[in-house]
Amino acid sequence: MAAFGTVFMPKMALTTFDDEGWTTPEQVSAEQINLHPGAHVLHYASSCFEGLKAFRHKDGSVNIFRMEANIARLIQSGRLLSLPEISPELLEEMIIGIVAHYADEVPEPPGSMYIRPTHIGTEPAIGKAASPSSTSMLYILLSPVGDYFSGGAKPLRLLLEEEGSRCAAHMGMVKSGGNYASALQPIMQARKEVNADQVLFCPGGDVQETGAANFLLIDGNEIITKALDTSFLHGITRDSLLTLARDMGMTVSERELSVEELLERAAKPGTEAALSGTAAVLTPVGTLIHNGKDYHVGSGAQGPTTDKLRRALNAVQWGEATDNHGWLTKV
Ligand SMILES: *Cc1c(COP(=O)(O)O)cnc(C)c1O
Repeated sequence: MAAFGTVFMPKMALTTFDDEGWTTPEQVSAEQINLHPGAHVLHYASSCFEGLKAFRHKDGSVNIFRMEANIARLIQSGRLLSLPEISPELLEEMIIGIVAHYADEVPEPPGSMYIRPTHIGTEPAIGKAASPSSTSMLYILLSPVGDYFSGGAKPLRLLLEEEGSRCAAHMGMVKSGGNYASALQPIMQARKEVNADQVLFCPGGDVQETGAANFLLIDGNEIITKALDTSFLHGITRDSLLTLARDMGMTVSERELSVEELLERAAKPGTEAALSGTAAVLTPVGTLIHNGKDYHVGSGAQGPTTDKLRRALNAVQWGEATDNHGWLTKV
């Protein structure tokens, strides 16, 4: 199977913004875009994106999961990057339009169609290091994905990083290109030096998130995860899982979690930890690495609550459970 995100549908939805406003969206070749080498995005990283999925149900229908929430977050990211404002209606029309065009190509569960809206500043103006791009381009790529969990979910090894941070503190809640480039060196170093899968960024001892997923600690009937602030990405999978957990009668504690408390709780048998995200869904964390030592989370294997929560989320996405919260949009 091809690596996640490397296969694209041949067409994408595209609109551009200039002083006449947004163009009528078109479905164009996804092979290339036309961009001036001096485009704002290439120099000053005026770029943001989203990641959401469409699922095929047993009745043949295609359903997009939490589209409104992803649209709202893309609009918020665009604002925080001073990109031209786009309306939720236009985004919705583009997303539904391109997914409908490729409805027959949406894989069966556990596969899905990954949807990648992208917004970039296109003005050719290298003098605008301290000013926003006056023009932009917004396109929606589609990438079919298979089963991320084929062969079982192997519990991850996370390095707890207390010195560095993933990105600038005020940019954490923006899904912006520069944040991912800035986290690469610590992640690559952790892979090489301690054989970690990911880095769990904990600046000053405050447990935040990894390079592209949120962190949840599960202690008995309680889920503990960082309360929303500007320093990290407000995952829609995180929100969905916390909602399902509350529905199941679990206690959800959104609050600060220190590295010290994390290691203390992880040492107890039965504790579980996991990463949440559209791609990761809910992936178990088996080991935390701190000051050169490995610490198992609970037994170090995937725990039953992680499994139960992931199944509950998948059941809604796949149309096997009632969509009590109105999370699905039929295409
Ligand atoms: C996308 C992303 C997440 C997960 O967000 P979802 O909406 O659940 O997909 C978490 N952290 C970072 C840094 C991300 O980029």
